[in-house]
Amino acid sequence: MTRGVRLEDELPDWAGAKEFYQKYDPKDVIGRGVSSVVRRCLHKQTGQEFAVKIIEVTPERMTPQQLEEVRTSTGKEIAILRQVAGHPYIITLIDSYESSTFMFLVFDLMRRGELFDYLTEKVTLSEKETRCIMRALLEAVSYLHARHIIHRDLKPENILMDDQLNIKLSDFGFSCRLEPGQKLRELCGTPGYLAPEILKCSMDETHPGYSQEVDLWACGVIFFTLLAGSPPFWHRKQMLMLRMIMEGHYQFSSPEWDERSDTVKDLISRLLRVDPSERLTAEQALQHPFFQRCVGRPVRHFSPYRRFRLVAGLCFVNEVHGVNIQVLPTPGRGTPTLLKSVT
Ligand code: ADP
Ligand code: MG
Repeated sequence: MTRGVRLEDELPDWAGAKEFYQKYDPKDVIGRGVSSVVRRCLHKQTGQEFAVKIIEVTPERMTPQQLEEVRTSTGKEIAILRQVAGHPYIITLIDSYESSTFMFLVFDLMRRGELFDYLTEKVTLSEKETRCIMRALLEAVSYLHARHIIHRDLKPENILMDDQLNIKLSDFGFSCRLEPGQKLRELCGTPGYLAPEILKCSMDETHPGYSQEVDLWACGVIFFTLLAGSPPFWHRKQMLMLRMIMEGHYQFSSPEWDERSDTVKDLISRLLRVDPSERLTAEQALQHPFFQRCVGRPVRHFSPYRRFRLVAGLCFVNEVHGVNIQVLPTPGRGTPTLLKSVT
């Protein structure tokens, strides 16, 4: 997740980006963030395709404070990406470059793009397909949490798919590493996916703060959305939506749920628990009967010793970021069912 001034469509000039251009040939735009553009790119020597996230850090277009903020948060994103590189369900940072005007993050190319777009196309997914996706996502979350890393922005826009519809978790812009017992207080993430304790903590100074359970709440929201084609917490007035979240007010009442098993509803309800101490952990969720039914795609063996050549990363401190949402209509439906984040 990157923030700040929007990057225009032109390619960064040679002088500012020599190292990157020597090795890669940038192609078409395949995604956008607030201050980043993601392009397909070719590795010149091998012809292999990758995705490059280009982040602008131009002094002429940004205040010194914005500049520092973008450099800091991107440096932190790189440090965490390096730590988790190689997991089968987490995007791999292949390379990174930093010039005085641009930062380049080279990733695996995920040709099918966002799970969000896949879901918008299919409207709802079957329990079988949801099982494959959620198992992979929970494995990724379990891996992160075992390393004391919280993602904090889990949502279908940040889950990418390859040609075989395998998923990888991406966008570590809000992620951070926790010290044992450490709690967080910042209000950050995307409104529809925010856990109740994040909201409560921002309204109450005496609240003890939140921890990695917030990722499991977001997994519950994603789970629900994949099966229903609409999110569990939604109201056109954002304040009312936030109140629904804090009260844990949602229902399996739309017609889509008539055909869904009690097992999957039970699992979702154990993820959408308002009290974080009652919420399942990623490991516990993976042990739930819903995942014991039949094995989906085989889980590839993961070697933590696989290494990638990376430019030395910088570890920085994160800060509070604004959030913004935009309503997208779903084809064939009267009411908007999915909220696309533009953060
Ligand atoms: P931001 O931090 O600005 O949200 P992201 O890292 O989420 O940036 O990238 C923005 C968008 O670019 C993604 O939502 C996705 O559509 C596209 N994208 C990012 N990385 C890749 C990738 N490795 N392969 C294909 N598309 C990507
Ligand atoms: Mg994103």
